[in-house]
Amino acid sequence: MSGSLTLARIWGIEIQVHWSFVLILIYGAFIYAAGPGGIVGGALYGVLVILLLFACVVLHELGHAVTAKAFGIRVPYITLLPIGGVAQLERMPRKPWQEFLIAIAGPLVNFVLVALLMPLALFFIALEFRTGVPLSMAWLMHLMQTPSLQGLVLYLAFLNAVLGLFNLLPAFPMDGGRILRALLAMTMPYLQATRMAVMVGRGMALLFAVWGLLGGGIFLLLIAFFVYVGGSGELENVESRFALRGLRARDALTRQAYRLYIGDTLQKAVDYIMTTYQADFPVFDLANRFVGVLTRARLVQGLREQGPEGRVAEIMIPAERIPVVSPETSLADVWDTMLEHHTRVVAVREGREFLGLITLDDISEVVQVMGATRERWAAQGPAGPRPAAPGPGPSSPHPRPDEPPV
Ligand SMILES: [Zn+2]
Repeated sequence: MSGSLTLARIWGIEIQVHWSFVLILIYGAFIYAAGPGGIVGGALYGVLVILLLFACVVLHELGHAVTAKAFGIRVPYITLLPIGGVAQLERMPRKPWQEFLIAIAGPLVNFVLVALLMPLALFFIALEFRTGVPLSMAWLMHLMQTPSLQGLVLYLAFLNAVLGLFNLLPAFPMDGGRILRALLAMTMPYLQATRMAVMVGRGMALLFAVWGLLGGGIFLLLIAFFVYVGGSGELENVESRFALRGLRARDALTRQAYRLYIGDTLQKAVDYIMTTYQADFPVFDLANRFVGVLTRARLVQGLREQGPEGRVAEIMIPAERIPVVSPETSLADVWDTMLEHHTRVVAVREGREFLGLITLDDISEVVQVMGATRERWAAQGPAGPRPAAPGPGPSSPHPRPDEPPV
């Protein structure tokens, strides 16, 4: 995410913090500076509380990440934002029970932290109790707000309980919403389960917004926004994937693609880009063997470094680094392959024969056409006129990497 700084790397996962996190530290300092700790002491204590709170958030996200990794899903980043953390899964788990375990692992970490802090918290409460203070909720709240070791332990136990419970609310794409989707997906198709979870999530977003406006604070409004937008984005994503599932790689192949040869200059690729719709080119050697791919991004970079007289062979991505799929691979799996390899292009091969390339643009085009066809079909019913040549749908999503915020 842009504007993020890498703090640490744990088990190959980069822990990043967004710049806006500083605002939360200032907020913490500000709140406690007005309290009984005094301006400087209170402010420092406030910063400490926020740092420890976010350490708990990191542990929560690591709960998701470690579980995901156990299912073979890479987790390149955990990003800390003011409203919480996001563990970036490279792809969605394939089985509902895997999503269930990945989603529940985060809140479980918080409950484990509560269980660990509880004996110490109870010990401190017992100590205070012996001094003759009447035990009441107001007194507990006061103790939590007071800068002290007792206050800190009690407050962290309380915050972890709140964090665990709040995340379990069925507000897809929050953890509870993912758990709901996973449970639904065990009894109905994944797409339908996602639609239902997103509907429930939108209802929750509305409740958060109302709660926020009625005095719950700006955080609830931010979370309401995140739930609404994030849920809609994931629904589009699942719908796209559903559209792609029934199609094979051979259906998306461009048969008459322009080819480049290793001896060609970049100028030739520029000419092709100017006069055709093609943006990525397979590169061949003189024996007509597929040896690499020149993508538009590489071409731009090559032009910058070497100018139009640069050689394709020096700029292209070598064939060994291009993932290979068979013509029978489903387009949903082709898309997954692109996400897993961080590439926008795959090579389609049948045995040793090179059949062509599929790019992210091709996938996007298929999704748009399928989306438009489906919308029209849904609007007019199966008996209505079918589009002869479906055009791109205006509201169709562009495929994007899965970014489940958890
Ligand atoms: Zn979570």
